[in-house]
Amino acid sequence: TVRVRFAPSPTGIFHVGGARSALQNWIYAKQHEGAFVLRIEDTDAARNRPEWTEGILNALDWIGIERGTYEGPYFQSSYADEHVKAATRLYDAGRAYYCDCTRDQVQARTGNQYSGYDGYCRDRALGPGEGRALRFLTPDEGETVVVDLIRGEPTFENKLIEDFVIARGDGSPVFLLANVVDDLTMGITHVIRAEEHLPNTPKQQMLWEALGHIPPVWAHVPIVVNEKRQKLSKRRDKVALEMYRDEGYLAATMRNYLMLLGWAPSGDREIVPWSVIEGEFRLEDVNPSPAFFDEKKLRAFNGEYIRALSVEDFVQACLPWLTGPFLTTEEKAERGYGITAPPWDFNAFDLAVFAQVAPLAQTRIAVLAEIVEYVDFLFLDEPVVDEGARAKAAKDAAILPAVIEAYEGLADWSAEPLKETLIAVGEAAGLKLGKAQAPVRVAVTGRTVGLPLFESLEVLGKEKTLARLRQATA
Ligand code: GLU
Repeated sequence: TVRVRFAPSPTGIFHVGGARSALQNWIYAKQHEGAFVLRIEDTDAARNRPEWTEGILNALDWIGIERGTYEGPYFQSSYADEHVKAATRLYDAGRAYYCDCTRDQVQARTGNQYSGYDGYCRDRALGPGEGRALRFLTPDEGETVVVDLIRGEPTFENKLIEDFVIARGDGSPVFLLANVVDDLTMGITHVIRAEEHLPNTPKQQMLWEALGHIPPVWAHVPIVVNEKRQKLSKRRDKVALEMYRDEGYLAATMRNYLMLLGWAPSGDREIVPWSVIEGEFRLEDVNPSPAFFDEKKLRAFNGEYIRALSVEDFVQACLPWLTGPFLTTEEKAERGYGITAPPWDFNAFDLAVFAQVAPLAQTRIAVLAEIVEYVDFLFLDEPVVDEGARAKAAKDAAILPAVIEAYEGLADWSAEPLKETLIAVGEAAGLKLGKAQAPVRVAVTGRTVGLPLFESLEVLGKEKTLARLRQATA
C-alpha cells in the first residue's frame, strides 16, 4: 500500500511551496487509498521553535489537511537512537568509514577548488573517535538511477558523488541520513517533495540500499518562482501561507491555486471544485519546469471565490478583520503575519449594519482584509481623512450646501430618493451625477472610491450623513 509523508522542518513560516507539496502528497495518498504521514523534522535544534510546529499544524488544518485525519505528527527528534543505530550499522558493514580530515587538508591535497572529499581516509581504518566524521563509501564507477514520477529516470554518475558525511565529528547523524532512516522506519513508499532535494536523492537512494531496503519511488515537484524567475525566497517574496490567510485569501482559493503550479485540470479550466482536482490530478502530469507563482492571478482567483460565497458565508468570512482576535502592530511585525485591529473603536462595530452592506462589498473586494476600508465609514466617528481625495473633490464641493438643504427635507431616506435628489441638485448646478457624487462621497466616507454611494448613505442614516456633510462645509 502507498504510504507518503510530508516532512517539514519547523524553522519558520510555512512556505507556500511546502503547502503545495503537502496537498500533492495528500491527494496521492487519497487516490491510492494509502496513508499520509506528517513528520516534523525538528533535529536542527538551533533553528527549531515549538511555535513554528504549531504554525505548521494550524496552516495544514486551514488548508484542509486536518489534525486527526492523518498519521502523526511524528517528531524526527524522537527517533535519534534509530539514526545513530543506522550509522553504526553502516560502519559495521564496511559501508562507511571514519575520517579526521579537515577541509583545509583536503583542499591542500586536491588543489584550490574544493570539489568534494578525496577519499583519503578510505583505507586508514580509523576507529570512532572524538572529532571523526563518519563518511559513506560511494562507488567510483557506474551510475545511480532514481525513478521519479515527474522527471523520468534522473541519472547520476557515481564518480561525481563524494564519500559524504552521515555522522558528524560529535557522533550526531546528519539530516540526509535521519531523513532516510525515518522514511524507511515509517514504511514510506513514495517520496513527493520539492525539486531542491533532487541533488540529495542519489545519496539517499544509496543509503536505502545499503540499509537493506528497496528505495521509494520519488517525485520532485518543480520549484516555485516569482515574476523574475527567481526562486521564491523568504526575504524577498511573500512566501508564507499564513500571510495569504491573514490578508484574506480563502483556503479554497489557495488550495486550488497551489495545485495549478505545474499542473492544470482538463478542459482549460483553472477554477475548479476541490473534488475535480482530487479526481483529475496526476503526479505524472506535473510539468517539471519551474512554476510561476503569480500573485495577480491569485488575487483574481480569490475575488471569484469570494463572489461565489453565499452572503452569510461572506459575512462570517469577514469577521476576523472586523471583530478579531487582533494582534498589535508589534506582534504582527514580530511574527511576520497576523491581523491587526481596524481603525474604529471596538464597540462601534455593528454586525447588523455590516450585514446590510456586505453584499455590496462582496462584489468589489479581492481579498477579505480590504473589507475594512470599504466599511470603516460606518463605524468611525469621523470618516478617515484622505487629503488627496479631499483635494480632488474640492473643485465641486460648492454643491454641498444645496445637497444638505435638499437632504434635510427628504422624508424617505433610502437609496432611490437619495439618488433622485442628488441628480436634481446636480442639474441645477450644471453638474452630471458623477461629478455631483464625488464631494458627497468624500465628505461622508473620506474616500473617492467605495461602495455604491446611495446605499451607503441609506445605511449610515440621515443624521450622521448630514452631520458629515455639514462638517465638510464648515
Ligand atoms: N525537512 C525537509 C524540508 O523541509 C524535507 C525533506 C524531504 O521532504 O525529504 O525541506
